[in-house]
Amino acid sequence: MWPTKAYVNGEWCDAKSGKTFDVVNPATGKTIATVPDLDASDVQVAINAANDAFNTWKKTTAKERSDLLRNWYNILVKNKDYLADIVTSEAGKPLAESLGEVAYGNSFVEWFSEEARRTYGEHVPSPNKTKEILMIRQPLGPVGLITPWNFPIAMITRKAGAALAAGCTCVIKPAENTPITALVLAKFAEDAGIPKGVINIVTTSRENTPEIGKLLCESPDIYGISFTGSTEVGKLLYKQCSSTVKRVGLELGGNAPFVVFNEADIDKAVAGAMASKFRNCGQTCVSANRFIIQKNVFTEFVDKLKVEMDKLVMGDGKTCGVNLGPLINFAQADKVDRIVNDAKNKGATIITGGKRALSVGERFYEPTLITNVTKDMACYVEEIFGPVAVCIEFDTEQEGLEIANSTNRGLAGYFYSNDLSQVWRVAKALEVGMVGVNEGIISATEAAFGGVKESGLGREGSRHGMDEYTEIKYICFGNL
Ligand code: ADP
Repeated sequence: MWPTKAYVNGEWCDAKSGKTFDVVNPATGKTIATVPDLDASDVQVAINAANDAFNTWKKTTAKERSDLLRNWYNILVKNKDYLADIVTSEAGKPLAESLGEVAYGNSFVEWFSEEARRTYGEHVPSPNKTKEILMIRQPLGPVGLITPWNFPIAMITRKAGAALAAGCTCVIKPAENTPITALVLAKFAEDAGIPKGVINIVTTSRENTPEIGKLLCESPDIYGISFTGSTEVGKLLYKQCSSTVKRVGLELGGNAPFVVFNEADIDKAVAGAMASKFRNCGQTCVSANRFIIQKNVFTEFVDKLKVEMDKLVMGDGKTCGVNLGPLINFAQADKVDRIVNDAKNKGATIITGGKRALSVGERFYEPTLITNVTKDMACYVEEIFGPVAVCIEFDTEQEGLEIANSTNRGLAGYFYSNDLSQVWRVAKALEVGMVGVNEGIISATEAAFGGVKESGLGREGSRHGMDEYTEIKYICFGNL
């Protein structure tokens, strides 16, 4: 039994229009639930509820908020298998990966239950004998959180955990592909005792989404927008938020370089490449997008990567042994197909894969390895978001860095080398927000997640994660 109503002001409700939309399991193509398709008038009710709730939520003590977040965390942990099952049903990822996401997603609730009590202000020595300088941190206000489908739990808890800890209330718009996970999170928050109106979940179809995005961005009653998703949508929201000079946090697309130098341990590099590229079928914003391999080790890396890729087992994520799920929808499958065909047409070499895996399912794509890639190919410049590994050869360190940085994105970057001075040089020179050195999986609740260039604004997780949801207020005590 899954909740299939929207959650507004502590009530489980339908759209006023009565409209609904279907949620589809991407592995089977079957409809697994039907949820309300809210429009702007429904979402306005949620914004009002978040405002009403803010009046009392902002007055709770940090300890009270911490305790409620801890209750929520405990319930989430108790229900980890149930949550993982839903994630696999809606997002298609293999069950083991879903369990990994549940642990990762839950850890943000735990982390921010702890951080809530550390929203310290500052007392600064004054230059004036009769004045004292204090700075305190206060919650921003009700915020709008817009999240993607690739991490249906973690992208919500990373934002909502921080927002609630800071004393903000929120209106959450989950991706249309994965609304059930969001509703279950709200159900458990309700069970944990989080008061009505503090968390609101507005489910909407893709058709209604732009008007709801606009409303959240332009509403004077919403004080911040935090978005994870595509760069295109992020730019639109950023623009819309200018009308109210709203605080904006953006976690957008990447184009992660994965550089392997001659001095690297190639077996470790291949293991890291597999983890970084094929987790969630390549559909993560930190997935390695371009393998940039130094001349002396190029052939060895490609040969070994092919061996590992050929071991991948595609299928329904609930089937034992499956470690590569489907792409989320037809749009994504079409995009991967277009990128691979473009490379083929422009003369690239397909070492393995290269087409849809229709015998497995309509949204499946074969793990694909491409070499002889040139700058004019879409796979060189675009974020692929699929199980396609693109290998580019380079000669000198300088050349490798130039290729790695030749993009307007800058989220994650990875490189493998055992030369200590090269490690330090390259880590500093990569134009990204996060670097994996001899490591392909870097996300951690304790670390700051975020990008540079067009990959985003702000940081999530870590002790900096609550900054997006607080204002600093300077208080000057005079005539002392
Ligand atoms: P994808 O193409 O991978 O679905 P998007 O950036 O389109 O990536 O989606 C991420 C989130 O942004 C989803 O919740 C989606 O519904 C939402 N979204 C898409 N378009 C808009 C928009 N115009 N305004 C607000 N949210 C949007």
